[in-house]
Amino acid sequence: MITSELVHDERIREIINSDYKNDDFVNLMRNITQNAIEMNSFYKEHTTKENFNLDDLNKIDDLALIPTVPGILFKESMGHYEKLLKIPLESPEFELWNVSSCTSGDPSLVGRSKDDIELLASMTIKCIYEFIPIPKDEWFNTISFDFAPSVTFLNRIAMRYTKVRPIKLYGSILHEISTRMSNPKFLIKFFPLKALKAMIEKRGLAGAFGINTKYVFNQVRKNLEKPKDKQKHISFGGSIHLLNTFMNTIMKERNIKFDLPDSVVNFGGGGWNGHKSQLKYPPIDKAKFVADCVDYFGTKPERITDMFGFTETPITFGSHWSDKHQDFIFHCPSQARIIIRDLISQEPLSNAGEKGFLEVLTPFGVAASVNHAVTVNDLVEIVAKNKCPECGYEGDTFLVHGRIEDKKGLGCSSILEWI
Ligand SMILES: [Zn+2]
Repeated sequence: MITSELVHDERIREIINSDYKNDDFVNLMRNITQNAIEMNSFYKEHTTKENFNLDDLNKIDDLALIPTVPGILFKESMGHYEKLLKIPLESPEFELWNVSSCTSGDPSLVGRSKDDIELLASMTIKCIYEFIPIPKDEWFNTISFDFAPSVTFLNRIAMRYTKVRPIKLYGSILHEISTRMSNPKFLIKFFPLKALKAMIEKRGLAGAFGINTKYVFNQVRKNLEKPKDKQKHISFGGSIHLLNTFMNTIMKERNIKFDLPDSVVNFGGGGWNGHKSQLKYPPIDKAKFVADCVDYFGTKPERITDMFGFTETPITFGSHWSDKHQDFIFHCPSQARIIIRDLISQEPLSNAGEKGFLEVLTPFGVAASVNHAVTVNDLVEIVAKNKCPECGYEGDTFLVHGRIEDKKGLGCSSILEWI
């Protein structure tokens, strides 16, 4: 249960702490779809074209009938992000544009209300509580290393992605949430002397940033010196690329290994394929990464979690490592439902092992934009419907295989229907 100290808004807290069964969920989806049709002419036109009828929406399998919004429509270059709003831009409910971190120079922009952002934040807290094995009331007694730049810095970088204002980087909201639960140390540091050198030699600032490794080594040592009952929990989090560099470059070169069997490692934002924001690096193998965490931090595979989410939906999916799949199994919370659709026919798939693209449906946190049913170009694989075969978590489970944006024709038909 999420407490009032973490999430002040009672209505949002109630949503997060509820368990939505299929019948309730279908009703809520019918209402939000009706709301989207009434509030947004762009969506209304689309539902008419698809001959969608609200009365056809009665049971859980009918959710597949709801006209979906292809995530790509939120791309700035498509020029539709404003048309996807359900509330006027100048209304007091409109808060800001969430911008995605982008490799391509073409970010997604999703309009959100204050409530939408709070819902997104609360969903993420739920995800952290459910999947990171640190007891809920012990987060404040945790040394939390965040392998990321500070929230302010992240948002300053995002200013370069787009000229649209006001904006906030989607990823920075996730980092911001961690500051509600604990006091994370953001480890990406700006080194003024290195900056000066880089400016003179390379006429740029690359190389002026680094990981504050000294802080990590000192904190870990100091904590271990304390009596066992006074020691804090330790959490390593942030970007896989930076965690990987920390282990395989810094710790390796210095021949340092921690013995922290109770520590946790958590990360999110993808980047396994070697692309993250404007960074490029060699792809990271998931199984090797998990083995490295065990080797360098001394933790256990079951204490390592990945989190999956994207700008277009307020839902965050938590995971645990699976020895069987040699991958992270993601879980759909009861506040959402997922549909995995065939790449070509777009029909919903239902058998374990089938791969397709992901659609996320939720009636929550979607007050400002038409994003109650969105598809993204991530190739995902069904592990099981309704229940996780490994941990028993209720809801559909899936593996994430990464982006499929370059595959020819993919998702194009659904986009063409829109334009
Ligand atoms: Zn599970």
